[in-house]
Amino acid sequence: MIRNLAAGVQAFTSNAFLVSGEPRADAPPVTDAGDHGRRVLVDAGSNFDVVGRVREHVDGLDAVVLTHTHPDHVGNLADVREAFDVETWGFDTDRDEVDHELPDGGTVRMGSAEYEALHTPGHKDDHLCLYSPGAGVLFAGDLIFGNGGFGRTDLAEGDRDALIDSIDRVGERVGEDLREMHVGHGPSVLTDPRQDVELAARSARMR
Ligand SMILES: [Zn+2]
Repeated sequence: MIRNLAAGVQAFTSNAFLVSGEPRADAPPVTDAGDHGRRVLVDAGSNFDVVGRVREHVDGLDAVVLTHTHPDHVGNLADVREAFDVETWGFDTDRDEVDHELPDGGTVRMGSAEYEALHTPGHKDDHLCLYSPGAGVLFAGDLIFGNGGFGRTDLAEGDRDALIDSIDRVGERVGEDLREMHVGHGPSVLTDPRQDVELAARSARMR
């Protein structure tokens, strides 16, 4: 189960996704009753009560994974750390927000699936995408958005050529079974996300 806890929030924030292994209401009964999956928050968001929203669904967190450390993705992090006594994973442990390194090619379990980290600079140097071939799910952070959108490159550490290389790399890595793309801003893409990845690669080259 993947939920966007920032849905409906009117504030300067990124999306913040709660990943848990809890089955969908229409899923068959779980045979391994002990496995509720690993409860992971992908990005903390900012300027809203993410702790309260986490608690509506789970009573704790096992990890926080950061796609990158821009303020709109980590503004709520201090509250989350304090409320859940939870540690964080990200690309660059020189950042205060990152407790544990998640290197390029590293893996992290979220919910009931294994995700691979893809170092994807261009929007920011420490940017990661997270891809689970088994689940067919991609967390694209601020690299790729729906409908041909892509991350801005006019901020510090922004680099359009690097961004294009990163989008291409994600496009080559994701399989035909990609079903869901969850992005840092705006709605998730639940219909043929590979088209949106290709579209982003094309539009990023246009200007
Ligand atoms: Zn960003």
